[in-house]
Amino acid sequence: MRLRKAEIDLSALRDNYKVIKTLAPESKVLAMIKSDAYGHGLLPAAKALSDADAFGVSVIEEAITLRDNGITQRILLMTGVQSEQELDICIEKHIDIVVHTLEQIEMLEKLDGNNLIAVWLKFDVGMHRLGFNIKDADMVYQRLNAIKAVTKPIVLMSHLSNADQLGDGVTNQQMTDFRSIANRFDTQYSLAKSAGILAWPESHYDWVRPGIMLYGISPFQGKTGEQHGLKPVMSFHSTIIAIKELKAGDPVSYGGTWRCPEDMKVGIVGVGYSDGYPRHAPSGTPILVNGKRCQLVGRVCMDMLTVDLRPAGDVKIGDEVILWGKGLPIESVAEKAGTIAYEIICHVSDRVKQVR
Ligand SMILES: *Cc1c(COP(=O)(O)O)cnc(C)c1O
Repeated sequence: MRLRKAEIDLSALRDNYKVIKTLAPESKVLAMIKSDAYGHGLLPAAKALSDADAFGVSVIEEAITLRDNGITQRILLMTGVQSEQELDICIEKHIDIVVHTLEQIEMLEKLDGNNLIAVWLKFDVGMHRLGFNIKDADMVYQRLNAIKAVTKPIVLMSHLSNADQLGDGVTNQQMTDFRSIANRFDTQYSLAKSAGILAWPESHYDWVRPGIMLYGISPFQGKTGEQHGLKPVMSFHSTIIAIKELKAGDPVSYGGTWRCPEDMKVGIVGVGYSDGYPRHAPSGTPILVNGKRCQLVGRVCMDMLTVDLRPAGDVKIGDEVILWGKGLPIESVAEKAGTIAYEIICHVSDRVKQVR
C-alpha cells in the first residue's frame, strides 16, 4: 500500500495536445515542459508528446536531460544563457535559446562559424520581465540577423501579462503592440501561452506555447480544464490511515482551529504539506474519499491531514482518498487555498511516487 502517489495519465496529456491542435491548427506547438513538466515528470511528458514541434524549459539542466535522453525536437531554453560556457553547451547540444539582453547578443557576435545556434528574440509588450523594448525592434533584429552563427529564421516572441483575464483591454493593447513588429519582418512569430490559445486567437501566430492546459488545467480563474474539453493528467492519491470517532465540540488538528459540530467520524489521511499539499488549504477544501466529496477540516500537517467523513458513508482504514485529479478539479483546491493550480502542481514533492 502506498500512502501517497501521483497517477500520471499520459494518454490524457496526448488528448490535451490534440485539443490545442484543434484550437490553433495553423500553429506549430512549443510544448512547455519547464519545471519537470509542471511536476508531471520531464522525460515521460516529452516522450508522450512526440508530436510536439519543440519543447520549452527554463533551466539548462532540463534541456541537457532531454537531449541526452534521445529527445530530437527543438528544445528552447526560455531564460537564455547567462554565460559563454552555457552558450557553448547549447551549441553542442543543439539547444535553442531566447535572447533578451544586449549582453547575450554580444556573446553571439563573438562566435565563429555558420548556423551554430537557433535563437528566439524576445520583446516586452508590458509584462516587464524579459525582453527588449519594441521600439528597439529594428536595431536588435537587424543586429541578430547579421550574425552568421545564428540560424535563420529567428523567431520573434513575446509574452502576454493579462491574458488570463477575459475581455481585458490590456491584452488587446499588447497584441496590437506585438502586431506592429509582426508586420515588419519576414520571419516567424510566437505570442500565445494557454490563455492565448483558448481565448485570444489573434495571438496564435506561427508558434503557440501551451503549458498549463497540456496538463488539463484551466489558466482562467473560476474555470476548470474540463470546461475547455481538457482532461486532468495528474491524480494525487492517498489513503485513510486512521479514523477517529469524535464528540460534538472536539477540536481537530494543530491549534484546534476546527471543532466537530456533532458526534462524528474524522479520517486521518496520509498526506501533508511535505508532499506538496498546500498548508494554507483551509477547512472546507474539497477532498474525495471513496469517490465521495468530503471536506478538509483543521490545519494541514507535515505528513497528514484530517477530513470530515460524514458524506463518505462507511469508510475503512486503507480506503482511497483523492486530493485532486479525476473527479476533483485541482482548480477548486487552488481556489480554496488562495493560490493557483500552477503552484500546487509544481510543488508535489519527490517522495510522492509517480505512477504511469
Ligand atoms: C510558462 C510559459 C508559457 C506557458 O504558460 P501557460 O500559462 O502555462 O500556458 C509560455 N510562454 C512562456 C514564456 C512561459 O514562461
